[in-house]
Amino acid sequence: NKDGRKLNIALIGLGYYATYQLAPAFAQTQFANLAGVVSGTPSKIEDWKKKYNIPEKNCYNYQNFDKIIENKDIDAVYIVLPNSMHHEFALRAAKAGKHVICEKPMAVSVREAEEMIAACKKAGVQLAIGYRLHYEPFTNEVMRLAREKDFGKVKFVEASFGFKLRDTNAWRMKKAFAGGGPMMDVGIYALNASRYATGEEPVSVTAQWVKTDPEIYKDIEETLFWQLKFPGGAISSSTTTYNGNVHRLFVSYENGNLEMSPAYDYGPLKGKTSKGEMNLPVIKHQTAQLEAMSEAILNNRPVRTPGEEGLRDMKIIEAIYKAAETGKEIKL
Ligand code: NDP
Repeated sequence: NKDGRKLNIALIGLGYYATYQLAPAFAQTQFANLAGVVSGTPSKIEDWKKKYNIPEKNCYNYQNFDKIIENKDIDAVYIVLPNSMHHEFALRAAKAGKHVICEKPMAVSVREAEEMIAACKKAGVQLAIGYRLHYEPFTNEVMRLAREKDFGKVKFVEASFGFKLRDTNAWRMKKAFAGGGPMMDVGIYALNASRYATGEEPVSVTAQWVKTDPEIYKDIEETLFWQLKFPGGAISSSTTTYNGNVHRLFVSYENGNLEMSPAYDYGPLKGKTSKGEMNLPVIKHQTAQLEAMSEAILNNRPVRTPGEEGLRDMKIIEAIYKAAETGKEIKL
């Protein structure tokens, strides 16, 4: 923005994503500043203070976090905690008058997601969800094709995201922390892709789950298949799993198709359409996301991926689980 101001952001939860993806991304942004940290691990706070020149007064733990209300040098928080903690910290941040950026999935239930949106609205702060793909060129091309119909209407979508995870100690393997299994972690990307590839909201869902290794995947689903119907006539089919690798988006249009693999990784993403290789700039998603969100918040404009976008996915995820449980088609 014109007066050279940056959005001062405090990261909450200094784990893998904050440390190796978000923190380095700040260095390349014009509008985002890594101003503070919130962590339950004092040694991490010491390391981050040195590495990123963060003053002691901008460091908090989970107990004293609410004092951030008095800190004029923090404008926003970025929640990078296990999924089950997003709701609590979004509400506490909103209460402290801070804008909220929150990782996906925004929460572990529709109710929580709705409460987060309401709390931010009441506090007059923005709520942005970390859908990094919405800020990178390949995904924007998929969205453009849905809008401008170069290849005609979308007929069907296959969107799947899974990877191998067997560490039974990981929070991702515990329903109490993750809210579910691979659906809550990477399946949400495939679901979000079926929505942006069609440019529509699904009207119904069917789903099935399979456990080939119930000893390992005790608490959560291992592999989940689901199918969506869209109002324009398109249908989609998706798989998410912790028992194998898949990173694929396939879109069949009336007059052509698009295929991306990998479609959801940090990049470089890769894809082709009926017209040939998708020759698009390869960028760091986290930098682009931080930059766009910070610029919007500083200028009091809506963010591209607000809480409402996260809520739409949460509603469909709950319906997917219900469909898998009951074997019935669930209307949305
Ligand atoms: P990590 O387990 O690596 O980090 C989570 C951090 O949360 C921990 O390091 C810890 O930080 C803090 N924490 C507080 N309480 C707990 C607890 N009880 N158990 C575990 N950690 C706790 O997770 P990730 O960084 O991989 O994921 C964090 C969030 O980011 C998730 O919501 C995930 O879905 C999302 N994510 C998004 C990605 C994307 O591409 N958009 C990619 C990866 C993750 P401390 O020691 O500082 O307290």
